[in-house]
Amino acid sequence: MSDKDILAETEEKEAVSKNFIEQIIDKDLAEGTYDHIQTRFPPEPNGYLHIGHAKSILLNYGLAQKYNGKFNLRFDDTNPTKEKTEYVEAIKEDIAWLGADWEDRLYFASDYFEQMYEYAVFLIKKGKAFVCDLTADEIREYRGTLTEPGKESPYRNRPVEESVLLFEEMKNGVYKDGEKVLRAKIDMASPNINMRDPVIYRVAHMTHHNTGDKWCIYPMYDFAHPIEDAIEHITHSICTLEFEDHRPLYDWVVKECEFKMPPKQIEFAKLYLTNVVTGKRYIKKLVEDGIVDGWDDPRLVTISALRRRGYTPESLKKFVELCGVSKANSSVDYAMLEYCIREDLKLKRPRVMAILDPIKLIIDNYPEDQIEYLTADNNLENPELGTRQLPFGRELYIEREDFMEEPVKKYFRLFPGNEVRLMNAYFVKCTGCVKDENGNVIEVHATYDPETKSGSGFTGRKVKGTIHWVAAKTAIQTEVRLYENIVDEEKGKLSEDGSLNLNPNSLRILKNCYMEPSLKDAKAFDSFQFVRNGFFCVDCKDSKEGEPVFNRIVSLKSSFKINK
Ligand code: ATP
Ligand code: MG
Repeated sequence: MSDKDILAETEEKEAVSKNFIEQIIDKDLAEGTYDHIQTRFPPEPNGYLHIGHAKSILLNYGLAQKYNGKFNLRFDDTNPTKEKTEYVEAIKEDIAWLGADWEDRLYFASDYFEQMYEYAVFLIKKGKAFVCDLTADEIREYRGTLTEPGKESPYRNRPVEESVLLFEEMKNGVYKDGEKVLRAKIDMASPNINMRDPVIYRVAHMTHHNTGDKWCIYPMYDFAHPIEDAIEHITHSICTLEFEDHRPLYDWVVKECEFKMPPKQIEFAKLYLTNVVTGKRYIKKLVEDGIVDGWDDPRLVTISALRRRGYTPESLKKFVELCGVSKANSSVDYAMLEYCIREDLKLKRPRVMAILDPIKLIIDNYPEDQIEYLTADNNLENPELGTRQLPFGRELYIEREDFMEEPVKKYFRLFPGNEVRLMNAYFVKCTGCVKDENGNVIEVHATYDPETKSGSGFTGRKVKGTIHWVAAKTAIQTEVRLYENIVDEEKGKLSEDGSLNLNPNSLRILKNCYMEPSLKDAKAFDSFQFVRNGFFCVDCKDSKEGEPVFNRIVSLKSSFKINK
């Protein structure tokens, strides 16, 4: 095959694998509609970002990179009531962590208030906008319905000069909230209700987090957003499907404001996760009601929560790629997110031993005070991670479920008379157990065979079970948190009254876990595979120097299969 054939084939493959947005961009570049590509992510600073936003960020940033273009971060802060500086900072941190680089292009919609005001005046002077004195209720009445056209406002044809003057008075604080609005003059008979002389400016005597009390009129989203995009030379303004019906208005605004190379809006389907709360509104309620420990509670799917839980930017990128970009709403299984983090961590991070539900195992024929160091691989599948020295002694902790006084069928772990392998150490044979006055097992006893040391090449006999352990004397005692879905999967996300069906077991705190001493110095966000128990990450809020607290990111197995 010649280079040319290979090239043709890869080009063909690329064309096929391109998503619908890339196909639009290719066409726009080929036809000269645009001479550059510029995208933006426009969050409203009224909450923390979630996994759905991650999709939008990575999509917009990815497109800019792919087409050698630029990516802007713009806070859409045109609604002063719900916005806060705390959110601005959190959003910036999350986007930077995801790796989307806005370079020096950090903008605020509120920085354009002056220009938006001038565009509004321009439209009035063109006869394309007018000040209307109808009340909000009257405007609604006049709007008509899906089947009936609307009625024109009696103020629609007031002289241009009068509207110019009244709009200036609106700006100067002459009118109370709701007393007057500025409306676009489009078409009250349009089948699209958004085009029936929509309100584009309202009076609102409110303090804005950025502009303070400078303004008492604020632009409506549908007027502000296209102007923001156009001012920044955005080419493809990517948003979610619910804005599809607003696109004609978007196009009307950029056309009537006479922007050169006007941006175009493209809609894609929102990302939803099955049985997981993604909407900002619900997450905010969980936070405000104190049901979770803030916006970064590891049970949530905000970006900060996923980070605290132990997800990596790479795993989220992989997830977003697997989800793809589409025009049809659908839900993705949470298990796919779990698959992505397992895939990302499994070769990168060390596998260590930690006992979450401990019981003592005493090896009666092992010297009382001896501690011996055994060599253990850090990751059997990735030798590059090297080895470590693991202390072994007479008293160990093992998982309670690894002993049964009376074994069930096919139980190959410890029971009286049975021999198992202690991972990285020796074979031990169970001799019995000690119970408290209530009949609970408090100690398991065993003897070891020095001949069977791991790595010694012993082939004398085989055992069916291998269990993990830590030496009691050198172990560190830690807290571990296990998570489940915050909503009850059986009952479904919402109950009939619209409240969330909470899962009472969404957080389990284990205070009495024992781990290898190597984990003592683990730092916030460090993650590990705990043999047989899953992937865990050091909590960034509640850990102290030398006293890590671990979050379970994900267990080792799931039923989720990926079709490739
Ligand atoms: P929510 O629906 O959770 O309240 P929002 O859409 O109100 O979110 P914004 O801050 O307005 O939040 O959104 C910023 C950008 O993120 C918008 O372009 C929006 O379309 C996009 N976005 C929001 N939610 C999702 C989602 N679930 N999937 C993909 N993109 C999303
Ligand atoms: Mg919004």
